[in-house]
Amino acid sequence: MGIVDEIKQRIDIVEVVSQYAALKKTGRTFRALCPFHSEKHPSFFVYPEQQNWHCFGACNAGGDVFSFVMKKEGIDFGEALRLLAQKAGVTIPSRFEPEAGKEERERLYQVNQAAAQYFNNLLLNSPAGEKAGEYFAGRGLSPKTIADFQLGFSLNSWDALKQYLMERGYTENELLTAGLVIEAEVGGTHDRFRNRLMFPIFDIRGRIVGFGARVPDDSLPKYLNSPQTLIFDKSSCLYGINLATAAIRQQDLVVIVEGYMDVITAHQNGFNNVVASMGTSVTEKQVGTLKRLTRNMALALDADAAGEEAMLRAVGYENTLEAEVKVIILPKGKDPDNVIREDAKIWQNFLEEALPIVDYTFNMLTAELDLNTAKGKSLAVDKLLPIVAEMKDTVRQAHYLQKLARLVKVSQHSLEATLGKIKPSQGKRQAKEPGQERITQARRPLLSSPVEEYCLALLLQHPELKSRNEGLSPEYFENSENREIFTAWQQANAPSSLKDGLDSAIWEHLDSLITRSLPANQIEQKYANCVLRLREKFLRGLEIKRAELLALEAESGGTAAELAKLEEQGIEVSVQLGEVFTQRSRGNQKQRR
Ligand SMILES: [Zn+2]
Repeated sequence: MGIVDEIKQRIDIVEVVSQYAALKKTGRTFRALCPFHSEKHPSFFVYPEQQNWHCFGACNAGGDVFSFVMKKEGIDFGEALRLLAQKAGVTIPSRFEPEAGKEERERLYQVNQAAAQYFNNLLLNSPAGEKAGEYFAGRGLSPKTIADFQLGFSLNSWDALKQYLMERGYTENELLTAGLVIEAEVGGTHDRFRNRLMFPIFDIRGRIVGFGARVPDDSLPKYLNSPQTLIFDKSSCLYGINLATAAIRQQDLVVIVEGYMDVITAHQNGFNNVVASMGTSVTEKQVGTLKRLTRNMALALDADAAGEEAMLRAVGYENTLEAEVKVIILPKGKDPDNVIREDAKIWQNFLEEALPIVDYTFNMLTAELDLNTAKGKSLAVDKLLPIVAEMKDTVRQAHYLQKLARLVKVSQHSLEATLGKIKPSQGKRQAKEPGQERITQARRPLLSSPVEEYCLALLLQHPELKSRNEGLSPEYFENSENREIFTAWQQANAPSSLKDGLDSAIWEHLDSLITRSLPANQIEQKYANCVLRLREKFLRGLEIKRAELLALEAESGGTAAELAKLEEQGIEVSVQLGEVFTQRSRGNQKQRR
């Protein structure tokens, strides 16, 4: 999730606005005298469900929490972002501070590289590293593989690494920041990694951001990782990604496994599109990184680990990727490392037999139910319908709805009715693990805006559209970051100068739009449709809000003049909506001809 989304998830617009205006709750909305213009009768509204605001008075404007703070404080997007981040308790990663911390980060990459070389040298050239060397040799690793992954070994010593690095000019503080040493309870610091097999973790650009470490025997804890640092965030790393990007692009497929050894063995056997997730589940950030390389993802899951939990998340990945996720089911107790070492051909077969993860979930969840009984049917629906409800792609959703209907021999129609009652996030909320991530994900569908993003991706990737005036206006973009990008695009003379006009916190979002894969045909037609849909969405939103307001006013006995004015504005919106429909039907006729 981007930093902008993260802030939005954590901040409640009602709370923010109430610091500037005396909000009063009226039904599902909050109302106040507009903080932007002077008025006697409140025409300013905040909508907690949509997390946005609108002034029906002189401003006749609205937006999200960012645009509110920008307007109210008279600051730009970047400043609003930092202000709200502070309120939300979100630390803005230093990579978004263009220059600040750059040197510090550079230094961390260097110290990690120096440590990796030290560990690697111990593995290859010291008597102490012999056992570790035997371990890797026992797993069949070649010297080339050990060099490619810069594998290493850490001594069973409290300060060997610390001394080595400090002799080379790194300070104790830098070693602490890099997570290579830790503070001891008795004071002072000591090496974090002792007597372990060392796996440097690289980012996509080939810089070492941290380390994974494994014990050379069966003692516990088996694995130890670098802590979160300025440059290491476990949830966004993918082990092996530095060596896998070319193959992922080429094969248009990424295979995700769990362990370091799984990746290494796969690569040594020529399966170069394999990366590991650094934990049991794949994160939204990781999927975001992979999406720039391919839409096709296959998860290699241990038969035991392939639980409901993973399945539920998978639909989230599918929504992010806008593609189907497949699953490779391994025999009980086996991991890719075992399978490939035994016979690479078997692994190849597993790959070819990968199943769409939703189909697999259907099979797995219904295997233990008796679908001839009422109880079995209702259990199947209870378990599977929330998964179907999560799907954003309506065509796929319809497909699986049909499948479920056939399975339980119930009419599709009645399932659809139940589906309508399930909020998109319900399935997630039912899952067991109530973490931060889950809560934020639950609100996510509300805040993302696929049409806005699709439209921007078209504009950014097709400069020729700039000359086409379809009447697209910044106010059609409800999300501030999208609005910012659109405005910058309007003002930029060349695509390359786009970033100059944008806060660096939005660059990541911008990059994802620029690299998003789009269909290649009928671009102008698609753009025109997009603009129509955005206009319609905007006008409809306005209409709904105005109707609510009108009802409120009528109830509380608003003056005739006010009511008339609202009616008038409402008519204006209806006329514009009518225009949208006329244009659309004209467009459809054109297509049919
Ligand atoms: Zn106003």
